[in-house]
Formats: sequence, C-alpha cells, structure tokens
Amino acid sequence: MRGNAPIVVVGGGMAGLCTALAAAPRPVVLLSRAADGEGSASTLAQGGIAAAIGAGDSIDAHVADTLLAGAMHNDPGRVRMLAAAAAEAIEWLQEHGTEFDRDGAGLQLGREGGHHHARIVHAGGDASGARVMAALSAEARSATHIDWRSGVEADALVLRDGRVAGVRLDQDGRNEILMSSAVVLATGGVGALFARTTNPVGANGSGLALAMAAGAQLQDMEFVQFHPTALDLEEAHSLPLVTEALRGVGARLRDGNGKAIMDGLHPLGDLAPRDIVARRVWQENQTGGTVSLDARALEIHWERAFPTVLATCLGHGIDPRHMPIPVSAAAHFHMGGLPVDDLGRTSLDGLYAVGEVACNGVHGANRLASNSLLECVVFGRRLGSHLREQQSVRHDGGCLLVERGAGLHSDDLRLLRETLWQAAGPIRTAQNLQHGIDTLAPLLARGWQARLGQSLLAAALRRTTSIGAHWRDDAVINPVSRSRPNRSISHSIRH
Ligand SMILES: Cc1cc2nc3c(=O)[nH]c(=O)nc-3n(C[C@H](O)[C@H](O)[C@H](O)COP(=O)(O)OP(=O)(O)OC[C@H]3O[C@@H](n4cnc5c(N)ncnc54)[C@H](O)[C@@H]3O)c2cc1C
Repeated sequence: MRGNAPIVVVGGGMAGLCTALAAAPRPVVLLSRAADGEGSASTLAQGGIAAAIGAGDSIDAHVADTLLAGAMHNDPGRVRMLAAAAAEAIEWLQEHGTEFDRDGAGLQLGREGGHHHARIVHAGGDASGARVMAALSAEARSATHIDWRSGVEADALVLRDGRVAGVRLDQDGRNEILMSSAVVLATGGVGALFARTTNPVGANGSGLALAMAAGAQLQDMEFVQFHPTALDLEEAHSLPLVTEALRGVGARLRDGNGKAIMDGLHPLGDLAPRDIVARRVWQENQTGGTVSLDARALEIHWERAFPTVLATCLGHGIDPRHMPIPVSAAAHFHMGGLPVDDLGRTSLDGLYAVGEVACNGVHGANRLASNSLLECVVFGRRLGSHLREQQSVRHDGGCLLVERGAGLHSDDLRLLRETLWQAAGPIRTAQNLQHGIDTLAPLLARGWQARLGQSLLAAALRRTTSIGAHWRDDAVINPVSRSRPNRSISHSIRH
C-alpha cells in the first residue's frame, strides 16, 4: 500500500475534533458512534475551560494549582505546556466559532475547587461543553479535509510491518477495513465501567481495550476521579452532573438530618478537594444514608447561571430553588490510560492517543477541575499539527487483525460495574480489591470490559499508598495525600 492513506481519528469528542481540524489539509477520516458529539463526555461538560488570563493570575499559578491537585504525580513539563498554551487555545476556539460568556469587555471567569484564581472560561452558563462542541462540530462538518463517519464502532486494529496501519469498523453488523497513515484514539474515559458515573454510557474504555489487545502499554489505570455531586437517581447508571460551581456560590452538602457533612472535615468545607468530598458522600451512602445539595438559599439567577442543572433537576421533579437536590458520588474522570509522549505517540508505532484515553501526565493522581477540555484542545491541536507534517508511510508486509473481542452480556456487565464501584470506588482496601479481582476472574474470557476492569483493579491493588484520587483505606498515609475521612465505617463488598 502506498502512503496516501488518510489519518484515522477514532472519537468525535473534543479531543478528536481538535485533532482532526488541526491536521488540515491532510485527509482525515473521523469515526464516531453518534453524530455531532452526541454520546460524548465533551458535550456534557458544564464548568468550562481553565486558562490563566485574569488580572493577577499567571501560568505559574495555574501550574502550581495543577500540580497540587495532582498530588505532584504529574509530569511538570507537560503541565507547563498545558497551562502556557491555554490563552491561545481559548482564542483558537473563539476563531472556530465558540462564543464564551463575557463580562463587559473581557471574558467572564469562574472559579472552581482547587483553583486559587478565577480562571474558568465558560459558555452558555453551565453549558460550556455543548456550546464548544456545537461550534467545533459545525467546523468539522464543513471542513473539506474531514470525512466524518458516524454510527460506526472501531473494533479491531490492523497491524502491518509491526506498526498500526488501520482499523476495522463495524457499521450495523457490516465490517470494513480502513487503512491509515496514522490511527488516533480519542475514545474518552472509562467511567461507564462503574455502577455510578457522570459519564455517558459509551465512556467504557473501548479504545483502551483495543490498544490493550494490540499490546500497548497502560499507565496509572488506578487513578479514577470521583465526583461528589451527581444527581442521585435510583437504579440509574449514568447520572447527570450537578456542577461544583453551585457549591462555589454557597450550596451546602447535607445528610438526611440536614446536618452539613463537610463541617470540621476540611478547612475549605464544601469546597474541599473533590476526592475528599467524594469520599465523604460515598461513606454516607455506603452506610445507607442520603446526601443532598442544598441550594435553596442562593440568590442567583438560575436560568442564566445554571440552566443545565435547573432543567435537569426539573426534568426529574426536583425544583432546586425550593428543594434540596439528592446527590451521589460517581466515577467522573480517568487520569490513567495510554502513556503518550509530547506528540501523543503511544508505545505502538503508528498509534496515537489524545484526550481522556491518553495518559500524558498533566493530571497526575487527580485532575484539577476544567483542565481536561483544555487538554483536549491543547494536545489535540499539537497532535493534529504533528500529523499534518508527517511523511507518508509505505506499507508492504501482510496485515494482522487484532480484535478487541466480544463484549460482556448485560448481566455480566452489571456485575462488572457493581464490582468496580464497590472495590475500586472512592475508598479502596486490599481485601476488597482482591475480592473484586476474584469476582471478575470468570468474566475475563467472556468480554473485553472485564479484562479492562481487571487491569484497573490490579493496578489499584499494586499501589499500596494513598495518593490523589486513589485512596487506600488500609494504607500508610502518603505525605502529599490529604485528610483521612472518618474511619469508623467498614467497606465490605456488596453485590
Ligand atoms: C458530566 C461531565 C462534566 C464535565 N465537565 C467538565 C468541565 O467543565 N471541564 C473540563 O475540563 N472537563 C469536564 N469534564 C471532563 C471532560 O468532559 C472529558 O474529559 C473530555 O470531554 C473527554 O473528551 P474526549 O474527546 O477525550 O472524549 P469524549 O468527549 O468522551 O469523546 C469520545 C468519543 O469517542 C467515540 N468512541 C468511543 N469509542 C469508540 C469506538 N470504539 N468506535 C468509534 N467511536 C468511539 C465516542 O462516540 C465519542 O465520540 C466533564 C465530564 C463529564 C462527564
């Protein structure tokens, strides 16, 4: 095969779109399960994008906050690269059609947990992801170098001469091989492998599983961030997010008796780091208690400031202006994934990764709020520009198809999700992790999700110290980890 094959980008979220747009004029085939960002985490993002552009703020301060949140497990060079590129990333998004919320002459800047400055650029109040995705999707649709094919599932990688040279698609049961000059995985996170998540159901690590089947290295699989305030809908798996910004303007977390649950636990109270609040909420739920977010006293313009939260709550019969919002902890973001270099290269020649599926070290052991959309834009653009300049590759050898394999059936999938939630949720112990591994053992031959879940559990078992979002209740406390939660609760696995 000659080297005029397209770049194949798997994933139509923010990372995939930024990569595809930046690769112009090289031909790109963009693959996604649904059209125009539907089903992506990017579209659900509420808070916004971090950029140190406000008065008194600096790149150094953004770097410092990111490293602190990440428990210094981050790659400092990449963190600086991220923070330094933020202002230009915001300008680029504006040039590509996003209208961010303004404050007089400049952009309105919000503040979120872990940030020492107001630096969150947002659009449509709490509809930031949807607004940016709408603008980028329109650009991608009209870009002549992009052939966007939605309604497809990439389920195998093609290897040639020891290099990733294409993907196999499944479209309504029909298979097609697509050869490529480079394959970019922009397939998002793994939240949907847990029983409770803020992620869309498609955030199931399918890209990770593809790369894993082909022998790619994985890194930091155990680092999963849990969000403390997902809307607690009984029996639901994918839960709507109730943005942290509500606590930023004064909403309080309360137990079933109306007692403020963060009082006395951390100097920042309800705005303590996300992992600490999530553990507290999880503990309350594990012992049968309920937690709600009380926003009744807030003097805010709900329709303008929190239109997404308001509409979602009202849609479930909860009026947050007059009733406390029931909340649950939920799996939110995966810091681990495919280790990549500055340009998004994975350990497999010809295979790249960007966005949440990648582990490029910017988030360390715990992501700072609003840094992940920034990562998608900054590293997506870098990768797209790199691929644009790449020399064509000539393939001559025979092809080898590496399949991800069958997926779990619904009962097994439910068991997997419950197992990960109980064993690898916000609070972990060796005993529960081992029990989780044993529970999944019979499932390993039945579906790729089990193999992925197993690698997460094994990584969590291996890391015996608590750091960032990885909390081992049986660990010797790590000096950079923060306040221990109430230890009086036992954490047995329930199925
Ligand atoms: C509710 C919520 C709120 C958030 N709020 C913020 C925020 O305010 N700020 C912030 O910085 N971050 C936020 N995050 C995190 C952030 O949204 C995500 O980390 C980021 O959007 C991930 O982008 P991505 O492009 O990597 O993946 P996604 O946006 O999830 O896109 C993945 C794409 O891959 C496709 N795909 C997956 N597997 C396959 C396959 N096998 N074949 C074909 N296509 C496939 C999917 O169809 C989808 O198009 C939030 C996350 C959630 C869930």
